[in-house]
Amino acid sequence: MKYYDKLIFELSREGRSGYSLPEDRWDCHPDSLPDGLKRASALRLPQVSEPDVMRHYVNLSNMNFGVDTGFYPLGSCTMKYNPRINEETASLPGFSGLHPLQPADTVQGALQIYEDLSRCLCSLTGMAAFTLNPFAGAHGELTGLMVMRQYHISRGDMKRTKVIVPDSAHGTNPASAAVCGLEVVQVRSTPEGVIDIQDLKPLLDDTVAGIMMTNPNTLGLFETGIDEIEKSVHEAGGLLYYDGANMNALLGKVRPGDMGFDIMHLNLHKTFSTPHGGGGPGAGPVGVSARLARLLPSPAVSKREDGKLEMVAMPDGAGRISGFTGNFGVLVKAYTYILMLGRQNVKNVGPYAVLAANYVKESLKDKYKLPVNSLCKHEFVFDGLLETGDGHEVTTLDIAKRLLDYGFHAPTIYFPLLFHQSIMIEPTETESRETLDAFISVMRRIADEAAADPGLLKTAPHNTPVGRPDETSAATHPKLKYDFCQATKTGL
Ligand SMILES: *Cc1c(COP(=O)(O)O)cnc(C)c1O
Repeated sequence: MKYYDKLIFELSREGRSGYSLPEDRWDCHPDSLPDGLKRASALRLPQVSEPDVMRHYVNLSNMNFGVDTGFYPLGSCTMKYNPRINEETASLPGFSGLHPLQPADTVQGALQIYEDLSRCLCSLTGMAAFTLNPFAGAHGELTGLMVMRQYHISRGDMKRTKVIVPDSAHGTNPASAAVCGLEVVQVRSTPEGVIDIQDLKPLLDDTVAGIMMTNPNTLGLFETGIDEIEKSVHEAGGLLYYDGANMNALLGKVRPGDMGFDIMHLNLHKTFSTPHGGGGPGAGPVGVSARLARLLPSPAVSKREDGKLEMVAMPDGAGRISGFTGNFGVLVKAYTYILMLGRQNVKNVGPYAVLAANYVKESLKDKYKLPVNSLCKHEFVFDGLLETGDGHEVTTLDIAKRLLDYGFHAPTIYFPLLFHQSIMIEPTETESRETLDAFISVMRRIADEAAADPGLLKTAPHNTPVGRPDETSAATHPKLKYDFCQATKTGL
């Protein structure tokens, strides 16, 4: 353990401090706090110097793995590189210093960005209108489903409470439908990994509110039956919802609106860069076709007669899902990313993401089990090692942990639930050939290690600041705070 790996409380020394105030204070601010409001005893904070605090937190940050420190092939989550210019524009004081209750006349630039970004998203997705208010993908799903429900209610079609969700769907899909008060019905996948249309058709009656689809789905496969699905669902009176959290494969090539989808959400924090997970907040804009535009939530941005923009309520809308106009900083980052790429380069995102995924898949499929062996889109799924040797059972978790030793973040594991040992890999378009080759060679090496020395994988990671945590006791006996008294007693 290095000195600065210690907890900040362990560096504490009585009377040490990170600041000093002049003794001879000017008299203009006499001590004005009433005695009753003063603390009787000092807060038990660590007593440390400024260099101690600085080094402690900088060293902590260095222990973290992020997309800025290495390759992060997290399938379904699109951990692509976030260009630094995004951060610069988002932190311009004219944006970062705004208050949501400022008069519209003083925030015309911000409202213009809302308007322009909505228009870019319409053009990329083929939808007619967008709300940028939802804070995340799942929040967007809820918003979209509220629009779906509102559509049926507004037509007096009260029976429609069923939402069809494929068994390969992201877990947030059934969860959002349930939160929206709708009933979830599952539709099966075929052995080829796409929606089983024969299983779908009997479900399409007059109680169907709609279907939620991800296309390409979470196996990275394009739903080739989309034409027939679209016709059948619409004929039955239902709507089609598109989970566009991860639209990397389609960007600039194919538009959900053109496939016949009525409602969709995007994760700006995946497809349109902007850091997420521990790195930052999200945004889950919802787009709808023209006939549903009036049902979007409040507030919306609209043009006044004098040409100025303002925030308005949507009287027919699905209600309010956020206080104001969403996570504005994330909107600025995504808008910057779209402008920076431009109309031409945005068309390259999908093809390069697909090329990278297929390159990695083909380079590893003689070592890892590929349950669906076909051309994938932006991501694909292995089902563990092809040969696990004689009974030593190297699992997907072991492979993921060993990857950390080699400086790569693990892919998404144990999702989708269709296979027992899922390893879901999404390289994204922002990685170089050299990075992909390095990852491939490490994955091959791990497969060889699994055969030669499985114990090495079972106990991995060996080179990270924290080894393999005991996940069972972490869940059953979580330690949620630092026990200061215990640490003082033991003389730390
Ligand atoms: C990430 C993801 C979601 C959920 O997005 P959050 O922002 O995490 O709520 C939904 N669907 C798919 C396919 C996703 O990849």
